Amino acid sequence: MDETSDRAKAEMDLRPQSMSTLVPMTSTTRFVAVIGDPIEHSLSPVIHNAAFQAQRLDFAYVALRVSSNEIHEAVAGLRALGFAGANVTAPHKQAVIPEVDRVSTQARAIGAVNTIVPRIKDGRTYLEGDNTDVVGFLAPLLDHAHALQGAAMTLLGSGGAARAVAYALLTTFKPEQLILAVRTPENGERLASDLAGFDEASALRVQPMAESRSAIRSSKIVVNATPIGTFPDVDASPWTDAGDFGADQIIYDLVYNPRETRLLLDAAERGATTIDGLTMLIAQAAASYVQWTGREMPENVAREALRARTAL
Ligand code: NAP
Repeated sequence: MDETSDRAKAEMDLRPQSMSTLVPMTSTTRFVAVIGDPIEHSLSPVIHNAAFQAQRLDFAYVALRVSSNEIHEAVAGLRALGFAGANVTAPHKQAVIPEVDRVSTQARAIGAVNTIVPRIKDGRTYLEGDNTDVVGFLAPLLDHAHALQGAAMTLLGSGGAARAVAYALLTTFKPEQLILAVRTPENGERLASDLAGFDEASALRVQPMAESRSAIRSSKIVVNATPIGTFPDVDASPWTDAGDFGADQIIYDLVYNPRETRLLLDAAERGATTIDGLTMLIAQAAASYVQWTGREMPENVAREALRARTAL
């Protein structure tokens, strides 16, 4: 089988599997939901239900399609029905902010909530909105923290995920330079201006992607936060000149379908350290899971479940 068709196997099959090993749902089962529209592509039920099962937790995770004009009712419903938590996905990550009672520092900075956690204070339950993309993104970089401190960096893209990445890089590694290499400069400038309060060293600069060769060549880490290279366009790459990558660089692709993107294959060929989006996907899920259950998510179980169900 050639490489392209092999990678194209990443097309997902999310149909229900055998229920024989499930912990039965009872009147005590705690529910967690992901809300979004569309929602049927979500991998979160596969990840979380596999982890609940492995730890024999009396929890169940459901995907609920919620339209944009029903966010208020949906969050009120989670509250009234006593959900143990929720994830929020596109297009509701911003709209949900006024619906929760408190927003964490990072979610406020990024302007997006992807996790809702019920917390109890003075006998009253309130809903906190958090953004676990920051922790999820950083998880595989902790081994490289020394090399990244104060380094030059390039981030491709300026959408929702790029916001979390830029916040994470600025606040954790204090880069000397963080170039936002973008298609639409106004979007990049908006991101830079929104995060200016976290950019003490004025490291953030916006550049058209086509003019970012020297930034890429001199960066310790290059992060792709565009969808370029996602199935079925598996031969596309956000940076096609692999000659700009070298062995002392980290190339991090947020795209997780396929796991080995064209960008990562090219970078690996040049000897760079590569990090795939599946690692972040599982780490951000784990950062939500621990807040809902008080337990560390068994990440190997989640990875195996995804592999079995989606060929990722
Ligand atoms: P988004 O908000 O739609 O932003 C997409 C960004 O990519 C925008 O800046 C957009 O530029 C840019 N872009 C899109 N197509 C482009 C092209 N052909 N050339 C240049 N730039 C292009 O999406 P997002 O939520 O940030 O997600 C981005 C990617 O990250 C997706 O593939 C998503 O699946 C992935 N992701 C992965 C994880 C994980 O856990 N691994 C988490 C979050 C997101 P404009 O501003 O010009 O539109």
